[in-house]
Amino acid sequence: MKKTDKKRWISRDGLGPILYECPLCGEKYQQGPSLYEGRKLNNCGGIFICSRCWEFNWDGFVDVEKLTILAKNSGQKEPPKQNQNGFVERW
Ligand SMILES: [Zn+2]
Repeated sequence: MKKTDKKRWISRDGLGPILYECPLCGEKYQQGPSLYEGRKLNNCGGIFICSRCWEFNWDGFVDVEKLTILAKNSGQKEPPKQNQNGFVERW
């Protein structure tokens, strides 16, 4: 795998999996071809996270500070919405 930038990897022939680094857990996830593991978090400026982080945080994300920064960096003006427990809502 060839690193194309800070967060993206691609196979040398360009035909293999395209990998991205999840901004939450730091693990790589595949985003094509044929397998799409990234999930869009519209509540945080539409950033993509891995499907594991998505599944494990069905009741909200605890790391409010980090998600607030990620949302801001992707151009969202409002902070992410939080649920009654103070976690960032998953949607
Ligand atoms: Zn993740």
